[in-house]
Amino acid sequence: MIAPLTSFNDLGLSEKVLKAVKSIGYEEPTPIQLGAIPHVLKREDVLGIAQTGTGKTASFVLPMLTLLEKGRARARMPRTLILEPTRELAAQVKENFDQYGINHHLSVALLIGGVSFDDQDRKLDRGADVLIATPGRLLDHFERGKLLLTGVEILVIDEADRMLDMGFIPDIERICKLIPFTRQTLFFSATMAPEITKLTEQFLHTPVRIEIAKASSTAETITQKLVASGRKPWEKRAVLRDLIHNEGDELKNAIIFCNRKKDISELFRSLVRHEFSVGALHGDMDQRSRMSMLANFKDGKIALLVASDVAARGLDIPDVSHVFNYDVPTHAEDYVHRIGRTGRAGKSGKAFTIVTKADKKYVDAIEKMSDQKIEWYDGDLSSLVPEENGKDSDQKRTKSSESKSPASGKQTETPEPKRRKKQTKANGEKTDSSGDKQTAMPVNQQQIRSQRHNQDKYSSKEPPSPKGFGNDIPAFMLIDTKR
Ligand code: AMP
Repeated sequence: MIAPLTSFNDLGLSEKVLKAVKSIGYEEPTPIQLGAIPHVLKREDVLGIAQTGTGKTASFVLPMLTLLEKGRARARMPRTLILEPTRELAAQVKENFDQYGINHHLSVALLIGGVSFDDQDRKLDRGADVLIATPGRLLDHFERGKLLLTGVEILVIDEADRMLDMGFIPDIERICKLIPFTRQTLFFSATMAPEITKLTEQFLHTPVRIEIAKASSTAETITQKLVASGRKPWEKRAVLRDLIHNEGDELKNAIIFCNRKKDISELFRSLVRHEFSVGALHGDMDQRSRMSMLANFKDGKIALLVASDVAARGLDIPDVSHVFNYDVPTHAEDYVHRIGRTGRAGKSGKAFTIVTKADKKYVDAIEKMSDQKIEWYDGDLSSLVPEENGKDSDQKRTKSSESKSPASGKQTETPEPKRRKKQTKANGEKTDSSGDKQTAMPVNQQQIRSQRHNQDKYSSKEPPSPKGFGNDIPAFMLIDTKR
């Protein structure tokens, strides 16, 4: 019997690549790497059905590096092309290339929107071994006559299901037709919708199919909980703060997902006001702000990141201990991608989803798709305490007093509403002079909150508030650079 391949040394990767992998500290290949790498090295087409977090990036980057060791780049004629649906993902794959290719001297060009064409043109002129691009920007360069795709030997289409969601399939078809038929194509998707299957039938040549985990399955390393809440924003924010407090030292860092941009700004401002170390990430921020926000989160300069689904797919942020769904995602599949930000590469993680009565149908869809029943954290929706006078029968927490800002007339952050008994005990709350309840925090929590943080950006009690945006201030405008 032939022994199964279990080590990186068995896969046919070059010495330079093996050295890099060793220095990063990967001990053995993940299943997608075991499955894909030998076929990529044999120049076969690969259809990888795998979620992010399975090590799929290295499954194409490592063998590509090995193959690229022969030959050299020519001006405006990249040798390989990797298509990614978002700028963040493209930037992240570039980071992976730099990391895994530390022993190579390859030229890697990133073609993404939101940055000037000039620098990208210069890189193309010098000749790129690897082009990592979003479809729109790639076609822009092509149409400006700055790029020839006839030299592409390997084409990678990553996160194809996301491409479909974002309406990129016609662009992908066009790009595939611009690249020689003889190329090798590596195609990755978490799900195989009919449109994606059609695409693979059209552009892949007898591919080796490697299926790792169904997109509908959620990693076993993630503890998932539903948390009942009243539907008002202040109630949801209070529930979230309770959760953060209750997790204590276990919470190292977290991504908090919202469905709407407006809610990201609102929640971000509220958390700043409550002196948490927090940043925000959504699609309307310019590229530079997004990247620096992400870098700050990765480096631990901010502990909480309030984000839209832009951040949910594919972003590799190792060691996220917690995911909070401030809103239940309306597409069940987004739930899988969101909570997949934690519990990565075998580590354990926790995912809490705040649920109001209006969200019931979305939770049902998530449970149906992932074929699981998610437990309630502290009583289900029926345990919500109805508000007196029958005003809001779905509120578990009742507002003790709702303050209004005298200047704006807008509702300001409310005092902590009535808490669940269990949590009250665990928290050891006290009340400050303003009547707001405060919570005694463990040491790590104090780091997550940014009370005494010279290093943190948001150190004032009140967040800066640029005029003219109402409640919808883009997060980057709230960064006080002087501080
Ligand atoms: P990906 O699915 O490419 O987003 O990778 C998810 C995470 O797994 C990243 O943080 C990688 O650095 C990590 N990773 C990839 N391959 C391995 C491996 N063989 N052993 C341990 N971690 C890995």
